[in-house]
Amino acid sequence: MPNPGGASGAPRYPLSEMKRVLGEQAASLIDCIARRAQDKDLPLYLAGGVVRDLMLGRRNLDLDFVVEGDATAFAKSLTIDCGGTLKEYKPFGTATWTLDAPAADKLTLATGETPAHVDFVTARCETYAHPAALPAVSASDIQRDMQRRDFSINALAIQLSPAQRLEILLDGCGGGDDLKRRLIRALHENSFVDDPTRILRAARYASRLEFAIEATTDQWMRAALPLLGRVSGQRLRNEIDLILREGRAGEVTLRLQNMGALAKIHSAFRVNSQLPELIERCNEITPPWPSAVVDRQTLRWITLFTGIDADEAQGVCERLALTNSLTRSITSSARLGAQISRLEYRSLRPSQITKILDEFPDIALQAAWLLAAENPQAQELIAAYASDWRQRVPSTSGNDLKARGMTPGPRYRRILDRLRFAWIDGDVRSVEEERQLLQKLLDAAD
Ligand code: ATP
Repeated sequence: MPNPGGASGAPRYPLSEMKRVLGEQAASLIDCIARRAQDKDLPLYLAGGVVRDLMLGRRNLDLDFVVEGDATAFAKSLTIDCGGTLKEYKPFGTATWTLDAPAADKLTLATGETPAHVDFVTARCETYAHPAALPAVSASDIQRDMQRRDFSINALAIQLSPAQRLEILLDGCGGGDDLKRRLIRALHENSFVDDPTRILRAARYASRLEFAIEATTDQWMRAALPLLGRVSGQRLRNEIDLILREGRAGEVTLRLQNMGALAKIHSAFRVNSQLPELIERCNEITPPWPSAVVDRQTLRWITLFTGIDADEAQGVCERLALTNSLTRSITSSARLGAQISRLEYRSLRPSQITKILDEFPDIALQAAWLLAAENPQAQELIAAYASDWRQRVPSTSGNDLKARGMTPGPRYRRILDRLRFAWIDGDVRSVEEERQLLQKLLDAAD
């Protein structure tokens, strides 16, 4: 972890080290941005997670720049000079610069090896009117910007401009020491009161980095647990969504459950003790039938709900302000999971299984198949349905029935279903047999 004192005695993070960890292209991009800030004598820093990871020797191309001054104006000047596109979030003083191929060309960077976008933010401080409130934000300097952050290891910055301060490492909160001691440490007693979502973030970083949560931070965190009840669903959902993208998502969630955090979010929010294995299955295995998409993040969300009763899943989805589409995927999977555990497979014909499974979207079938690894019979039936029975249609159509003089109505559906189910059960094996069955059904109805 490079941290030698420079000529001025201030600790430095050498750019040569940055090049080694991030790769030549990303380091050149940082250099280009730094030079442009230096030309304007604008104080610019690389800050947050990327600096934490640089000091750990981990490659992270999620580049966050802090500007002491107008970050959006600086980002705009880069776009004018180099191309690419800019998305500004004026009220927050932030901007995302997306580098396209011509912009990379102009900067003489190879596309594909540089970050697709970089973020610029004006140094700011935050004040909280009441616990769990959204903060009031005002422009500030880098020191105060570091103090508003969640943990010491994220309160690190490397100065890139002005030129005479290049490479200076700002570590006013002791993040460098905590990286060495492998600790997640909050910056002040009210950190979790101001923003209880930091409880979820602490658990996420602790598992990802295999760090311990420092003892006092742990006490502050536990004391703030009831405040999770006051946090908006959207903010909780965003944090949980980040957790589910982690390699150790199951472990993080169980840790949160064990400390009582999930129950404070919603009384029915419980996770399955097998969650780590189940999520691993969702990450690695693909159901054995052709599907348009295997949406692994949705599968992980569904898995997160496997410890919740089907009739309580809707309430937890509402608490987390999940989108309608994700809610439908979760609740239908919960219903299917409950049905599957009750099915008497031996006594059911394929058509009966089809009638049950026809009601569920493909994502619920995928999840049910993945989660039924201990129930090979259920897996076999779900796969047979998804890859074969579901596709079966009779050769007879509604138009054929009309041509035979039948008045359109619910009888059409009943007859066509009977033909489809006869194919699925193997009672009909050819178009001729289907025709004979159809005749029988029509005669019986006369
Ligand atoms: P990751 O490695 O998961 O991407 P990151 O450290 O880049 O993490 P982001 O969520 O992208 O984290 O946020 C960028 C920075 O903003 C963090 O490093 C942290 O300093 C700060 N930050 C983010 N969320 C909070 C929060 N809830 N409270 C305080 N600071 C925060």
